[in-house]
Amino acid sequence: MSDGDSGNGRQPGDADERPRVAFFDFTGCEGDQLQVLNLEDRLLDLVEVVEIVSFREAMTEHSEDYEIAFIEGGVATAHDERRLTRIRTHADTVIALGSCASFAGINALRNDQDFERVKERVYGEDAHRISSYPVARPIDDVIDVDYEIPGCPIDREEFVQAVTALVNGAEPTIPNYPVCLQCKFEENLCAFERGETCLGPITRGGCGATCVSEGTHCWGCRGMVEDPNEDAYTAVLEAHGLTTEEILDEYQLYWGFEREQRAVADGGES
Ligand code: SF4
Ligand code: SF4
Repeated sequence: MSDGDSGNGRQPGDADERPRVAFFDFTGCEGDQLQVLNLEDRLLDLVEVVEIVSFREAMTEHSEDYEIAFIEGGVATAHDERRLTRIRTHADTVIALGSCASFAGINALRNDQDFERVKERVYGEDAHRISSYPVARPIDDVIDVDYEIPGCPIDREEFVQAVTALVNGAEPTIPNYPVCLQCKFEENLCAFERGETCLGPITRGGCGATCVSEGTHCWGCRGMVEDPNEDAYTAVLEAHGLTTEEILDEYQLYWGFEREQRAVADGGES
């Protein structure tokens, strides 16, 4: 509880039993919070069942009394680490919102690059002012995380389902099947058949194969499925004249941190 905070904000006899929810942003584009705001009318339904006590994009009030914390963005600075630790002490349930928070996502693009050059490219002559860590990390590298809602940005329906589950005392779940499954349901022509590559076979579904349905391919924004069938995927790549390394290099876009962790786990260099 913060200094000066009078407590939980409720008075004795207060009948408001709604769980108190806070949103926080770290290093990211805030697109996931925008997805929540874009719920529009459904957001009004949500505030019937939860009380939002902190949400910088939507309100000026802030309370440090909350049970559920949604955290968007990854970890970039020592200040981020301290702030996350503080949030964890307040929240009963912490949920990573979006891919940057869940697995470092697009922030990790820089992880295998010369950080000084990255800073110069982005900030030019002000690069020396940036005190960020050279490696982007997900929030579970700092604190325990109870659930993740991946996506870049998140799927609004998946967010609503997670809140509904929490309010009903259930555990939010996310799919663990590959994007290909939904792609088949959508009757899309496979990107490989169009001569493109695609991360759909090992990317976590739940997005309705949106990108393929819109005429492109899966970039892997929801992270890998658990235990991806890499042998089968490698066979697909080989059948199209590609190696695993070639395609994973192409799709460093989202998986930089995961790939480093896997390399370390496999005994390779990070
Ligand atoms: S386009 Fe991608 S997601 Fe769809 S079936 Fe082919 S490999 Fe799978
Ligand atoms: S198709 Fe792939 S890149 Fe597109 S939204 Fe789904 S998981 Fe993300």
